[in-house]
Amino acid sequence: MRVYDLHTHSTASDGVLAPSALIERAKGHGVDTLALTDHDTIGGIAEAREAATEGIRLIAGVEISVSWRGHLIHVVGLGIDESDSDLILGLESLRDRRDDRAEQMAMRLEKAGIRSALEGARRYQTTDILSRTHFARYLVEVGKVDSVDEAFKRFLNAGTPGHVPMQWATLPETIDWITGAGGAAVVAHPGRYRIDENQLDQLLEDFVESGGIGIEVVCSNQKPDQIERFAGIARKYGLQASTGSDFHSPKSNRELGRLAPLPEYVIPVWQNREW
Ligand code: AMP
Ligand code: MN
Ligand code: MN
Ligand code: MN
Repeated sequence: MRVYDLHTHSTASDGVLAPSALIERAKGHGVDTLALTDHDTIGGIAEAREAATEGIRLIAGVEISVSWRGHLIHVVGLGIDESDSDLILGLESLRDRRDDRAEQMAMRLEKAGIRSALEGARRYQTTDILSRTHFARYLVEVGKVDSVDEAFKRFLNAGTPGHVPMQWATLPETIDWITGAGGAAVVAHPGRYRIDENQLDQLLEDFVESGGIGIEVVCSNQKPDQIERFAGIARKYGLQASTGSDFHSPKSNRELGRLAPLPEYVIPVWQNREW
């Protein structure tokens, strides 16, 4: 049986392993098909592809930040052509918005008594993506919080002093960028949004209407009943099922390839694809 992990991050966004190191680690954990899905960038794909010569297959991917009815939603694109110009331009515009946000975040954090947050976060930044994760690492460094998780809860999540409301990509444009580049659009980690059941239904209706074709049924840190729930939802909406760890760092409980099997009654996103 092949081992798939179709949601991972590298230093091209907010992960801590370089793309080549990520590939090595994935091999070490028995993964034979890996998608690199950095936030709003495909900047790590070339290095990952070069490293993925033997024993592992690389799927070019991306995880796009979407604003949907006032909520931040993540849509993963799998099997994209990374030379597609509409996709490249779309992602560029999101990275510009990240830079503006970072400046506003730093001003808000300053008012909350945290100095030099922009410079601090930039020290953790590895490419042209500036993420809240980089701010979180700085907050830990200066002792404002004890963990990245606490940084989000006290300073970075919606409703806290450092949060800046954002307009990311729309759902239709995101799906157009992905499908226009030959990829499959997949709703990431459906259990992690602060939306109720009715809103999730609405999201999936909008998603399918715009041409989305998949949903992550298996992610890290899920209870078995969640897998059944999202498998049922996949069937209800005619969506294919994906699986991915959302790996960011070796020092977390999300390990590469450490994923429960997909239930047999869903159609895996790799079926009828060359993966
Ligand atoms: P951004 O895309 O810059 O708004 O940052 C979102 C990223 O922050 C997510 O993709 C996660 O990697 C990370 N994140 C969000 N909440 C938490 C949390 N509670 N603990 C650790 N990382 C988090
Ligand atoms: Mn992240
Ligand atoms: Mn995500
Ligand atoms: Mn992710």
